[in-house]
Amino acid sequence: MKKLYTFGKYLKQKFHTSVYKVPISIPGFTCPNIDGTAARGGCVFCENESFSPNLKQKERFTLNLNSTENPLLEKQIESLKWQFENTLPYLKKRFNAKKFIVYFQSWTNTYAPFETLKALYEIALGFDDVVGLSIGTRTDSITDETLNYLANLSKKTEVWIEYGIQTSNDESLKRINRGHNFQNVIDTITKTKKLDLNVCGHLIYGLPGESRKDWEKTFNDTMNLNIDSIKFHPMYVTKNTLLAKEYFEGKFTPINEKDYIDILVWSIKNLPENISIQRMTAGIDTLLAPQWCKYKNKQMSHIIKALKENGVKV
Ligand code: SF4
Repeated sequence: MKKLYTFGKYLKQKFHTSVYKVPISIPGFTCPNIDGTAARGGCVFCENESFSPNLKQKERFTLNLNSTENPLLEKQIESLKWQFENTLPYLKKRFNAKKFIVYFQSWTNTYAPFETLKALYEIALGFDDVVGLSIGTRTDSITDETLNYLANLSKKTEVWIEYGIQTSNDESLKRINRGHNFQNVIDTITKTKKLDLNVCGHLIYGLPGESRKDWEKTFNDTMNLNIDSIKFHPMYVTKNTLLAKEYFEGKFTPINEKDYIDILVWSIKNLPENISIQRMTAGIDTLLAPQWCKYKNKQMSHIIKALKENGVKV
């Protein structure tokens, strides 16, 4: 019988205690898809506030990417410490968390001068009870220098790189204004895996113009990339996004809950046993549509029920 292999289980087996990710948003960080280096205007669904709990707490800065002297670094370090210390009590109380992985979540967390990245990663690793890092980024925004540095770091500590894959369909990648194609995803993940780094891939089911056939192809293409962990998301619409405009103009119809759960269950049943699952859906504060994406707990109970009915041990 197929068993659900969560990232929590992976961490527990590895560290013999409960380990939780602490989400962090670094002030001054941005994204090549927002500053116009990759594409203009960002991904159609981008509203970092909707998936970054700590982002609302921070001030925004403009980072000079051409400068190796970063006058913001002190402020960035201060913010990193503040966010970490303020999230810890909640994780300890709610989940009895004992150890932590610092999760650089918002924006593109390898898109800054190398010395800035190195300083922030090393400060994070120095916090009490931190056993590793997880770094969210794009496949077109990580240099060989950063990859080699992280590969060395991973010999001493847990290091994860989280890449947004979203879809393997190049037409869809253009349609969502992603700013890179699927070949870029293949090349960067292949390079990352050659360095023995842990890779988590994010997939979105329900992108504009896509159907079940595209979702299955994206899943199968992703399985060829030798990733170690995966996050699944339904495509939802949040306020202040390009997708919200399309939604109001009737140009985008969100995926319904049944179709999402069907493709999710199919994916989990076809997932190789060594790939852990970090996310099966999301609950969103700033949600516009579809309404079934509002409450994560309710969605999770429907997902767990469907998994059990389809022979997956949860
Ligand atoms: S890559 Fe991430 S941060 Fe950048 S525009 Fe897309 S969703 Fe937003």
